[in-house]
Amino acid sequence: MLRRLAKWLPQTLVARVFALYAVTLLVFVSAGLATFYRFHFEVTLEEAQQAGLMLNQMAGQIVTESAVIGDFDTIQRTLDKTVSRSPFASAAYIDVAGATLRAQAVPHAGSTPPQWLLEHITGSLSDVNQVIAAGGRDYGVLRLTFDAQRVASELWGLTRSALALAVAALVVGILVILYPLRRWLGTLERALEVGGSERPDQSPEVDSLMDDMPAEFRPMVQALNRTAATLRHELQARERALVSLRETLAGLRHEAGVPVADADDLASLSAAVARLVAEREASREALERALDAAEAVNRTKSEFLANMSHEIRTPINGIIGMTDLTLETPLSDEQREFLTVARSSANALMAVINDILDFSRLESGRLQIESLPFDPRETVQEALSVVRLQAQAKKLQLEHRCEGPVPEHLSGDPTRVRQVLLNLLGNAVKFTERGRIDVVLSCDQLEGPQPLLHLAVRDTGVGIAAAMHERIFEAFVQEDASTTRRYGGSGLGLSISRRLVELMGGRIWVESRPGEGSTFHVTLPLVEPRWQTAANAGPTTALASGS
Ligand code: ADP
Repeated sequence: MLRRLAKWLPQTLVARVFALYAVTLLVFVSAGLATFYRFHFEVTLEEAQQAGLMLNQMAGQIVTESAVIGDFDTIQRTLDKTVSRSPFASAAYIDVAGATLRAQAVPHAGSTPPQWLLEHITGSLSDVNQVIAAGGRDYGVLRLTFDAQRVASELWGLTRSALALAVAALVVGILVILYPLRRWLGTLERALEVGGSERPDQSPEVDSLMDDMPAEFRPMVQALNRTAATLRHELQARERALVSLRETLAGLRHEAGVPVADADDLASLSAAVARLVAEREASREALERALDAAEAVNRTKSEFLANMSHEIRTPINGIIGMTDLTLETPLSDEQREFLTVARSSANALMAVINDILDFSRLESGRLQIESLPFDPRETVQEALSVVRLQAQAKKLQLEHRCEGPVPEHLSGDPTRVRQVLLNLLGNAVKFTERGRIDVVLSCDQLEGPQPLLHLAVRDTGVGIAAAMHERIFEAFVQEDASTTRRYGGSGLGLSISRRLVELMGGRIWVESRPGEGSTFHVTLPLVEPRWQTAANAGPTTALASGS
């Protein structure tokens, strides 16, 4: 039923709501009008009847009195008065002899009622007759005839006014609903127009549209907006992917030498791509083989270096031992000086050989990092004691201190930590002419997920240019060529230190400015030995500063 009704309704929402509203209004106005008409019809008839009866009674009395005395003038006047300004068209007195006195009302000049109304009124109003009698004798009959034309005309005039009022109400009602309907629901049509534009989200109308939109539609439109934005995004991504795919294809076509005419022939294109893949695979395998060979050669070189260093170390140890022994025998001053020079040269040679041995071990991956319990402060002090004499010889102040709590027991490779520290301290003494060298021990991110042991070696030496801060950690690199001449060294120390620190899971870097000294930082993951942590939770203790 509703479906069939919907078929007759207009297509747009505005027109539908409007049509339903108009029909409902029409029904209500018509029903009101009908009720009004019915009520007035009855009231008018009732009033006419009542007035007729009253007039009839009043006139009847005067006519009776006048009839008794035969005053026909008074009867005529009474009849005239009765029809003027009354619902009667005529009043007549017919005496028993048949003589008739009649008064006729002036025809009513109001609006002309429709025929059906006139007939209806005529049928509903009946003439009023009264027998005029007194003292048991009949004198005649008083007859009042209703003016159906006047009653109908008055009723029709009233009905027409009500009809005009109803039509006016209908028109005003329709206009009142039409404006907001067009404004509110019209926003949907405007939204459609904006939605069809190139960049709907950037249209200046969007905000005012959302403000005008009925609240029920807003979430839906917002959801639609979001979906549209996602789709647009996806479309753009796909277009980009398509463009890059086309470029890749064009590149492949070019590389595989597929003629442009065959470019759209998928079979020849995929054959060309397969050929390319096979070629690439072959060259990758050849590269892998070359890499394996190069690695094997590198390993052999490192092994050779390690063996050679080992072989060279043994005779140098012999030279150092013998020189030491000879220095303990009675010697002339000149002999002692010569031997002292020979011993320091042998020591320097030994240091270089040791560096080369470590470097080749690191290169061949044969250097193992141990995990032993150790106290970092002890390790610092041991390293300091090795360079203390050299520092004193150059009149340099050498101190160490702890900043904040540092655990007494750690697990790690104390030998390698000491080696790194010795290398940094050796460089600090070597490159500092006056001033001081400080070693600062602290813990970073003690509360964090990965606490770090932080070692800083600070000197007041020559400093390093910013451009070299990273390069000095590469093998055989020194800040400039004059360094070797002035200070000696192989350029391996920092490279070995970095590799050792990284093997221990830490980091090494430098902060320095030429002429202002340098600070080398080392951080190492702080691992406390398990037996220690289990036995004594919270083992960190603060160490008083100073050496
Ligand atoms: P070597 O000291 O044997 O030359 P390193 O690898 O230990 O080799 O150091 C590389 C270079 O870094 C040094 O030659 C020097 O130019 C620079 N360098 C290292 N430590 C310092 C320092 N404390 N002050 C100034 N320059 C330094």
